[in-house]
Amino acid sequence: NKEKREIVREKSAALYEKAKTFFPGGVNSPVRAFKSVYGTPLFIEKGDGCFLWDADGNKFVDFCCSWGPLILGHNHPKVREKVIEVMQNGMSFGAPTALENELAGLIVNNNKYIEKIRFTSSGTEAVMSAIRLARGVTGRDKIIKFEGCYHGHSDSLLVKAGSGLVTFGETSSAGIPKAFANETIVVPLNDREAISEAFKTFESQIAAIIIEPIPANNGLLLQDREYLEFLRNITKENGTLLIFDEVISGFRVGFEGAAGYYDIQPDIVTYGKIIGGGLPVGAYASSSEIMSHISPDGGVYQAGTLSGNPVAMAAGIAQLSELLKSGFYKELNAKTQEFAESIQRYASAKNYKLKVFKIGSIFWISFTDKDKIQSAHDIDAGGMDKFKEMHKELLNRGVYFGPSGYEVGFISSAHNKMELEKVKRTIFEVLDIIFKK
Ligand code: PMP
Repeated sequence: NKEKREIVREKSAALYEKAKTFFPGGVNSPVRAFKSVYGTPLFIEKGDGCFLWDADGNKFVDFCCSWGPLILGHNHPKVREKVIEVMQNGMSFGAPTALENELAGLIVNNNKYIEKIRFTSSGTEAVMSAIRLARGVTGRDKIIKFEGCYHGHSDSLLVKAGSGLVTFGETSSAGIPKAFANETIVVPLNDREAISEAFKTFESQIAAIIIEPIPANNGLLLQDREYLEFLRNITKENGTLLIFDEVISGFRVGFEGAAGYYDIQPDIVTYGKIIGGGLPVGAYASSSEIMSHISPDGGVYQAGTLSGNPVAMAAGIAQLSELLKSGFYKELNAKTQEFAESIQRYASAKNYKLKVFKIGSIFWISFTDKDKIQSAHDIDAGGMDKFKEMHKELLNRGVYFGPSGYEVGFISSAHNKMELEKVKRTIFEVLDIIFKK
């Protein structure tokens, strides 16, 4: 009976019980705890190409890809070999290495939107530092962020919208001083009026607008280019800096990220995920002038024991070198488009309430009939039950999606056409099951 299929999770379940004795919720990052889907987390033992194996030996085609970094898939030989080569010489020196120059050169020399860069060890750190830089450069305290964009877990950014169009934010985590949240103004995406209102209310007080130019942390809320251009213009007019948080979109929709995709020049860009090839790396980048405010050249302090770590740099160098090969993005993006469009065609032909949103090699399956979803409050929260069903049935058939209906899926160059073809048929089968219920 196809509908009753269940994978064995005995070893994962035992590991999870043990993990709960060590870690809050049994995990080291909350979404991994499978709270938004059925069952308990799978403990992963191995990844190779587009596949994952869990502790019970179940094999999955992986569409989470470590939440984005693995654009070449798991355990890519070029990345692995470079990391092993560099590791032979030691793991960390707390002093400059040529590898930092090499990775920075690959990034900066192939990106017309930035001149100087600084490496950190995570996306959170990169964004936190970019905000500090914007405040340091402008001498202003307030920032604008958008409801539905995630920028890591620093104090200024774990802030959600209050009531009303333009309000001081409210903290979205315990432990953040109210005074910090008061410096963050939260507005809805795709709402020009809210932005204009914020600039009127807080004239000459706003240091920066920070946006995921391709919001991909709360569904995939694709914005119109004109809206991003509006943000570019209004920030310029007000002496406010525009920060593109490209921790997901950077090197994903193209080598120059969303800035290149839309051809819009931000003032500061943040990166993470892909530039580390699966090791902990983040970065922020800007013009030489703006970056001259960073210590030791300028007065904005930011540092890190493991920043520019040689092993992490090695992984980044190997991965980005692959991305620069001619035709890389064209092929990957075409594969994703074909995958997303066939799911959409199947669902539409059967009148299933489902839309597949996509850009580059990012996709999001939403249980809605809306053709466009551009702000957090347009998401059909009711559709999340369908996602939970789909997630469970897919896991039982060897397809691993991130454990939340608000998370996007990623396709890597290791997802070959034959596997994608098989997964498509599995998805069709699962849709038939969940829409029949
Ligand atoms: N910004 C964006 C857009 C992100 O997607 C994330 C992580 N998902 C972060 C910042 C934080 O990065 P990290 O998890 O590496 O700290």
